[in-house]
Amino acid sequence: MEDSDSMICMQTIDENGQYHGAVATPIFQTSLFAQPDFETFTKVHQKERENFVYSRGVNPTVRALEIKLATLERAEECKCFASGMGAISATMLTLLQQGDHVLFLNTIYGPTRQLLDFLHRYGVSYDHSNPVKSDIERDIKPNTKVIYLESPSTNLMDVADLKAISTLAKQHNIVTVIDNTWSTPLFQKPLEFGIDLVLHSLTKYIGGHSDLIGGAVAGNRKTIDRIFEEGFLLTGSVLSPNDAFLVLRGLSTLPVRMKQHWENAKDVIAYLLHQPEVEHIFHPSQATGETKKIVQNQMKGFSGLLSFSIRDASFEDVRTFINAFTLFKIGVSWGGYESLVIAPIRENNAEKLRSENIPPGLIRLSIGLEGSALQINDLNKGFNALRNR
Ligand SMILES: *Cc1c(COP(=O)(O)O)cnc(C)c1O
Repeated sequence: MEDSDSMICMQTIDENGQYHGAVATPIFQTSLFAQPDFETFTKVHQKERENFVYSRGVNPTVRALEIKLATLERAEECKCFASGMGAISATMLTLLQQGDHVLFLNTIYGPTRQLLDFLHRYGVSYDHSNPVKSDIERDIKPNTKVIYLESPSTNLMDVADLKAISTLAKQHNIVTVIDNTWSTPLFQKPLEFGIDLVLHSLTKYIGGHSDLIGGAVAGNRKTIDRIFEEGFLLTGSVLSPNDAFLVLRGLSTLPVRMKQHWENAKDVIAYLLHQPEVEHIFHPSQATGETKKIVQNQMKGFSGLLSFSIRDASFEDVRTFINAFTLFKIGVSWGGYESLVIAPIRENNAEKLRSENIPPGLIRLSIGLEGSALQINDLNKGFNALRNR
């Protein structure tokens, strides 16, 4: 993590020096901005991207957040949205048209896949491929417009070689899009490896307090301006000034939170490595061989979202294990201060999971900020319950 990034996270954005030295960005809770005269109105109304006209377009509090996120991602521009899915939908709707094809790499966030299933009715198709050159080259079609990936992904934490993928995509004139939510811009800056667009769910680490929903996309000015005019303005997935303020507040402690999430997760991983029931730990810190080299080359640190598999676990085993917890809360989402647990197994889906290369005994932990002694103590309750079954 770079100190200059920490400074960006904490910096006050006051483009015109009008906030009286306020260290917290003011919340501009207004739907519209009145203009001083009719000539100005006719001018700014034509250029909503560059002016404060209406908060479905540009709002100063949201704008401050966009400037910070763009700087952190080393992007020319950023646009924020009401949710991560808002950002993903607007980006896809802008980039794709009838007859286009999308190639997914690594496991992809469920609703993102569902979006592409939905776009089938508009003539857009997709396939899954593996993030290796020969497979991608085999699966690229003449109409492939977008290569979309997650690295690390958020279930099995798979990693892809960003430089190799962006190089290959450029040769085929394909736009590359990454969901960078796992790493945050502090630990991975995909644009530096040639990826075109970076997406975030601000709901996770960047917000960090489980009290808001938000999303963002960052990239070159031309593409983000297009996303603004098309996918953003027309779907109206607007981040509220209030939520933008909360994200800015979250951002100011992001560096210290990320350090602590990893400190705690490191201890939890060391503990899990000693439990005989644990078959595998899914986290980029555990990568070996070629993958380890990729991780070292493109990541500057690790977050606290990890999975592990319990050997030969049935639904009842997983149920017993998770229900023994008192600290880890059972719930979706991740990246907040609180520790969370979730598992994909249901009473009758073990075969389906295996067919998707997901171990039925998979447990996903979002390691919060409580402290590793407490977290390990809770995991111990789970393993004891399992052993006493
Ligand atoms: C949560 C999540 C999203 C969606 O973000 P929302 O803010 O919930 O809409 C997208 N990608 C990943 C990897 C996520 O975990």
